[in-house]
Amino acid sequence: MHFFRPLAVLPPLPAELSDLPDIAKNFFWAWEPGMDALFRWLDAELWEKMHHNPIAFLLSLPQEKLTEAAQNPEYLEIYHEYRKRFSSYMNAPTWFSGTFEQNHNRVIAYLSAEFGIHESLPIYSGGLGLLAGDHLKAASDLGLPLVALGLLYKFGYFNQQINPHGGQEASYPLLNFHKMPISPMTDGDGREIEVQVELSNHHSCRNVSLRIWEAAVGRVRLFLLDSDTPRNRVEDRQLTGSLYGGDHQTRLLQEMLLGIGGVRALRALGFEPAVWHINEGHAAFSVLERVRELVMKGLDPETAREVVRASTVFTTHTPVPAGHDMFNREVLSCYMERYYGQLGLDRDSFFGLACDPNKHEFNMTLLAHGHATYTNAVSRLHGDTSRRIFFSLYPNIPADEIPLTTVTNGVHIETWLAPEWIDSFQRLAGEEWRTPKASPEAWEKIARMPVAEVWSIRKEIKAGMLDKVRERLLTQKQRYYASPAEQAEIETYLPPDVLTIVFARRFATYKRATLLLRDKERLAGMVSDPEQPVQLIFAGKAHPADQAGQDLIRQIYNLSQQEPFKGRIAFLEDYDIETARYLLSGADVWLNTPRRPLEASGTSGQKAVINGTVNLSILDGWWPEAYNGDNGFAIGRGEVYPNEETQDYYDSLALYAIIEDVVIPNYYRRTNGVPRDWVNIIRSAWRSIPHFFNTGRMVKEYTSLFYVPLMKRSDYIAQNDYSAARRLKEFKRRLMDNWSQIQILQVNEDRPSTPVAGQTVSVTATVKLGAVTPQDVVVELVLGRTKDYLLLDTKGFPLIAGENLGDNTYRYSGAVSLTQGALGFTVRVRPTHPDLAHPFELPLVTWAPEF
Ligand SMILES: *Cc1c(COP(=O)(O)O)cnc(C)c1O
Repeated sequence: MHFFRPLAVLPPLPAELSDLPDIAKNFFWAWEPGMDALFRWLDAELWEKMHHNPIAFLLSLPQEKLTEAAQNPEYLEIYHEYRKRFSSYMNAPTWFSGTFEQNHNRVIAYLSAEFGIHESLPIYSGGLGLLAGDHLKAASDLGLPLVALGLLYKFGYFNQQINPHGGQEASYPLLNFHKMPISPMTDGDGREIEVQVELSNHHSCRNVSLRIWEAAVGRVRLFLLDSDTPRNRVEDRQLTGSLYGGDHQTRLLQEMLLGIGGVRALRALGFEPAVWHINEGHAAFSVLERVRELVMKGLDPETAREVVRASTVFTTHTPVPAGHDMFNREVLSCYMERYYGQLGLDRDSFFGLACDPNKHEFNMTLLAHGHATYTNAVSRLHGDTSRRIFFSLYPNIPADEIPLTTVTNGVHIETWLAPEWIDSFQRLAGEEWRTPKASPEAWEKIARMPVAEVWSIRKEIKAGMLDKVRERLLTQKQRYYASPAEQAEIETYLPPDVLTIVFARRFATYKRATLLLRDKERLAGMVSDPEQPVQLIFAGKAHPADQAGQDLIRQIYNLSQQEPFKGRIAFLEDYDIETARYLLSGADVWLNTPRRPLEASGTSGQKAVINGTVNLSILDGWWPEAYNGDNGFAIGRGEVYPNEETQDYYDSLALYAIIEDVVIPNYYRRTNGVPRDWVNIIRSAWRSIPHFFNTGRMVKEYTSLFYVPLMKRSDYIAQNDYSAARRLKEFKRRLMDNWSQIQILQVNEDRPSTPVAGQTVSVTATVKLGAVTPQDVVVELVLGRTKDYLLLDTKGFPLIAGENLGDNTYRYSGAVSLTQGALGFTVRVRPTHPDLAHPFELPLVTWAPEF
């Protein structure tokens, strides 16, 4: 192959429309209500053909269409409206600028392996990426000084086709980055900016070069790294080939490029982030690169780690240990060996950074957690499961005191709301329903929308969705040379008056796509009921290496080709953001059946609810926080089962029961043709869900819980040549080295024999501190609720140090007032230091022996 320079050449633009290329290069048009008309209006057919990619669209658009539009008042009005809205969006005062002092306007870097922003940028596989995309949109709405960083995959994730045997066929079309709404980053001379990542062991060393592309997401800039440059060896050009596509080794190399290359890219672009947000462990190598930078500047490795920790927040999304990203030591050594030394570490201490005490693998979750001031889970239930995962790192520390916060996921409302709703929402609630505000009052007003109006808009959206699904089924059939009769039959599929349940999401086995297929007779009864029938649409990709997931697709597809399911069950190919948008808004019921507690959060149900689609889900992820008995349906009651087989069996019974006994009768109960009770569920969901489960609220929480505190902390820690970091490091080392000498020698208690609430318990404890000073510790009386053998909801009340009994032994005393209930109390010693971000940042505690 010979070299050529790619050029993207647009049709000459009429002066009136000269901003179109710039408009096309900021995703703002994609979520601002009504603004996709800018492109659709010009040539609706081409717009669909280009999969809503505005650059590919402009590159193919016949010039006459532009000339025509430049004369057309209707089009010019849309165009000017856009310019007005975009400029006020970019320049208006924001929540962030209005809430925090100017000196907190420091850059936040957000790192993630995937971003789901729009169908025209296919660098996502599921919930993790979509969450990141919605995070960026809300960060833009709120005016956060945030820049994001990810990888640009030459083949995206993959495209899915289903063959006539129900087999999933994955294809990897090569993306042409010059036909996408992104731009290469260049220096003053127009040369592409590149950064290098070294892959080395003791006998070889090579550099991988990375180009940097920018995608504009409103005010937020997303930088994407791409190893497909002529400077790289052929095999290295493939490293950023596809998302989650390669083997174990490719995965490691991708994560090195993301983490190490990501830090270098932001530096090369001139950013000095004060806060680093690691979205899931894939980007955790970034902490090592930041430690390395400091070690190269002469800081010792431990102090450097304190500095990095003081500016890092880590979001975990995985509820089971097996789901964590881990690397084998030997593979790691093949590529990172020379890196250890640059971190001031040897091989063993390097692996010590991220190895579970009982395991051999290098664990990216532990690496990130160990270098973050804050770690957070993504729903309350996930918080509880995650605490159990970090348990082994915090021996003897009660689960609820492990340093882990919860920020429940949300969605970006405008991105997911069907356009059919906009006029009604604006009439009822003005702009207040939108993401940055999403006020409860606004959603209360929306919830009072007249029943008939709700229902007629719902019917319109649903009919449009079913048309699109039939069209897609037809395309699929035509690909395999269907007869005219077979093609005609598709027109009769999925009639609009039938209760339509949609299951659309990644086909990971824990999501149990086929739970409703366990009892085929019962399902056949439901779909062919003459009075109150049900129909089902499925969509979703199984990872190409996941045979079990692909089997589920096969089962569903094959069933959809048999009587009596034909035309009442459909499998739709190639689930992506576009498909999601219309399925979510057009379904009557949005079904989710994960094996509890494996769904860390899930967000698609939140998107459904905004559109008046009723959520039907296992009480897992976000749903237990939102479900209130009348705003959707719960499958079961969040039971825990001894094994998967039993769980699947009982959950399927609960699923059939709720559909047959509650969902179906409720849906078909009509007054003057309108299902009043059903619409009341929709209204109750509007009233209770979107005002909380949106990314405006979510990003505000990230900002006030983590970003702003870390801006302050990272400044403080770096002052006077990192003096606070050095002090903290020395404190930690001293306590780690000497903690075992601490002993609670004796506890004396004084309490009423039959205590009543309001009376007190007082204790005196004799504590030997060894080499630790009294200033370094708190001795506290701990009070909690007893449950089984556990002390829950523990609260500490510091005791006062009294007499020095010699040999560094002190008497501590104090009292606490009792509340009613089955309580327990004890005494413990824990570290204290003004610069600790959390009482158990050091996993040290000594509990009183029996007294
Ligand atoms: C929202 C979304 C997801 C994540 O939804 P889950 O509820 O976690 O399955 C996945 N894929 C797409 C395309 C989405 O829009």
